[in-house]
Amino acid sequence: VKGSSFLESLSKTDTVVFDKTGTLTEGRFEVSRVHSVGMAEDELLETAAQAESVSNHPISKSIIEAHTSGFDASTVESAEEIPGKGVRAVVRGRTVHVGNHRLMNDIGAEYCHEEVAGTNVHVAVDGRYMGHIVVSDVVKSDAAEAVATLKAIGVRRTVMLSGDSARICTDVGGRLGIDDIRYELLPADKTEALERVMEDTPENRTVAYVGDGINDAPSLARADVGIAMGGLGSDAAIEAADVVIMDDAPSKIPTCIDLSKRVNRIVMQNIVFALAVKFGLLALTLFGFT
Ligand code: ADP
Ligand code: MG
Repeated sequence: VKGSSFLESLSKTDTVVFDKTGTLTEGRFEVSRVHSVGMAEDELLETAAQAESVSNHPISKSIIEAHTSGFDASTVESAEEIPGKGVRAVVRGRTVHVGNHRLMNDIGAEYCHEEVAGTNVHVAVDGRYMGHIVVSDVVKSDAAEAVATLKAIGVRRTVMLSGDSARICTDVGGRLGIDDIRYELLPADKTEALERVMEDTPENRTVAYVGDGINDAPSLARADVGIAMGGLGSDAAIEAADVVIMDDAPSKIPTCIDLSKRVNRIVMQNIVFALAVKFGLLALTLFGFT
């Protein structure tokens, strides 16, 4: 906890806003399927891994790891990350786009979507759809317990904000018992959604935002209390946050709020007790008893 004032804000928490990937889920994706239409499966995976080599998004890491035979990163001429959508890179003179359906819509590529338990990562080369890779993530084992405990200790509302698809978000959020689920948000939309949640919060209560990625940093700074995942989290998120959870366990959030309430109670008890003793002695002194 980076300062005592955050302990006071935490004790008044009304709403907790969560990021999904890496915060409520492990953020360790695994490639479960490769579906290619335009090239060999291995070539598709290699092309995607080359393009993703510039990114440190959890999805990129999983695709790079899945391509076990290794690849020559020097063939990547230029590459850029497109937040909330994917990456664009030039590999051996060909433009490669790897990302979600919004990225495919942006470049006007026809894609085929697979209804499976996982995220579809589409690959296009020179604007032509080449296939997709399905990656999936698991919910953290203590996430449901964390959400239930928050409710039990007096948090009125829980919200989940994610850049992922509607189906995955409603599935994860529903299983965890989150009150308000918002999906397909770009990084800027997340901060805007957070601001709207803050407007809906009673005057003397606060909003905590919990996140892990670079794209969460603005929201972590904007919320009354920003909580970052310290293990998996990016440096930018840890820097912007007011509270850092070192072991990435969501169940530490209710623990922290509970502690902050106890700290504030003890502070109040001390002030009341000290003043009472002072007034008592003052009164006795006036009548000459001390
Ligand atoms: P979240 O808010 O859940 O942490 P992000 O905003 O990081 O998610 O990403 C939103 C979506 O954008 C992902 O679910 C994925 O479909 C796509 N995406 C983002 N970055 C990448 C990438 N490097 N490679 C492939 N897809 C990506
Ligand atoms: Mg995240």
